[in-house]
Amino acid sequence: MGLATIHSRAQNGLQADPVAVEVDLSPGLPGLSIVGLPEAAVRESRDRVRAAILNSGYQFPNRRVTINLAPADLPKEGGRFDLPIALGILAASSQIPAQALQDLEVLGELSLTGEIRPVRGVLSAAIKCAKMGRKLLVPEANVAEALLAGDCELKTAGQLGALCAILHGDGLASVPPRPRSAPVLTVPDLSEVRGQFQAKRALEIAAAGAHSLLMCGPPGAGKSMLAVRLPGILPPLREDEALEVAAVASVSAAGFDPQDWGRRPYRAPHHTASGVALVGGGTQPRPGEITLAHHGVLFLDELPEFDRHVLEVLREPLESGQITVSRAARQVDFPARFQLLAAMNPCPCGYLGDSAGRCRCTPDQVLRYRSRLSGPLLDRIDLQVFVPRLDTAELTARDAPAAESSAVVRARVTQARALQEARAGKANAALTPKELERDCVLDEATRQLLVAALTRLSLSARAYHRVLKVARTIADLAGAKAVATAHVAEALRYRQFDRDAG
Ligand SMILES: [Zn+2]
Repeated sequence: MGLATIHSRAQNGLQADPVAVEVDLSPGLPGLSIVGLPEAAVRESRDRVRAAILNSGYQFPNRRVTINLAPADLPKEGGRFDLPIALGILAASSQIPAQALQDLEVLGELSLTGEIRPVRGVLSAAIKCAKMGRKLLVPEANVAEALLAGDCELKTAGQLGALCAILHGDGLASVPPRPRSAPVLTVPDLSEVRGQFQAKRALEIAAAGAHSLLMCGPPGAGKSMLAVRLPGILPPLREDEALEVAAVASVSAAGFDPQDWGRRPYRAPHHTASGVALVGGGTQPRPGEITLAHHGVLFLDELPEFDRHVLEVLREPLESGQITVSRAARQVDFPARFQLLAAMNPCPCGYLGDSAGRCRCTPDQVLRYRSRLSGPLLDRIDLQVFVPRLDTAELTARDAPAAESSAVVRARVTQARALQEARAGKANAALTPKELERDCVLDEATRQLLVAALTRLSLSARAYHRVLKVARTIADLAGAKAVATAHVAEALRYRQFDRDAG
């Protein structure tokens, strides 16, 4: 027949845009040219496809082979099109029946021996295929991930030769769907953290309303211990959220591990991390830490040590829940609805306010250290809490009441979040000023208390809204319909740092 078209998909951020792989055989000097792929990718793909076809016992056509990947302006990484190209060549040269490939989309890299190797971003492609009612052929190593898409009819094969033999015979059987496994939580428990009642309370409020939280305290106070326990008290992921988390991991360098299904991400990049590592980018744009933390926790330890420019970039996703990564002529949007958790020392040496009086920092040094955090960034952090170092007596006290487990706290948090979803369809942290006015009506005495406190702390209008949101969450945790004086008073305690810094 001389002509064949195989359907495949490119990877563009989380988009999996359709690509048609058109193969044309014509008389003329034997050779293989590929249109629509970058030069280096063409060279590698050409060699792999040719070797894989020959080593699978088939013939490479002794004619001029032209392959066109359409449309031309999509980003196209080479490897994922190896298998569609090979099948296209075999169908165009009538070595396999073309009708066996109808309604089928194909993804897969080939080894020289014809082994079908896994590719990235299979989940996004499977989700799109499910929507279009198309079948999808994926490498065996990608099956577990692709099955998460649910309604997509999947086919798989491990070797090009074996695949072609089946296409000649009865055709490919579909992979039976598997129920998604229940998520297994493996984060350490909150009950292991001694004392620190105010910090734990702040963590619970942050979890309940999806608020951002800054912990300030000396080294060894347990800030990191508290941080890793936040995912364990957050409400369970909804199915659609879990699917988004998996799709993000699927296009990342590490790929998606099906064991992580339903787990909230926890990302803790070091302060030396580059801008690209943090917010995403690269020639083939990959998600950064803030996207890998989508629907989960982004923990930034030693916040003032981060590059100031990088911190300012966080302001956009903190408001919008997404990030636009630009590279050359292309723009890619990645989701980035993360919960920001940050920690810092109170001063350069870390011991300011320590009862042992170890701090030798000058007021000027302290001021310069804190001014590394811009006002606008601090303004976007809902809760700020001081985490003191516990003395040995507190740590070894035998008569201390048993601390609550993560499961107990999580149940309260989940209930409070359900109230927010029912009232506004979102967590309190995401409320707009208008929605706040509607959902957070204060009586006159409470309003006056808040106004007086704001004046005393010289807080901005933005901070006013932060306090109201946090007060709303505190009321939700208490199961209270109206926000009362006590809720606002407690919310104000988590703006302590504004005053210290100012
Ligand atoms: Zn100091």
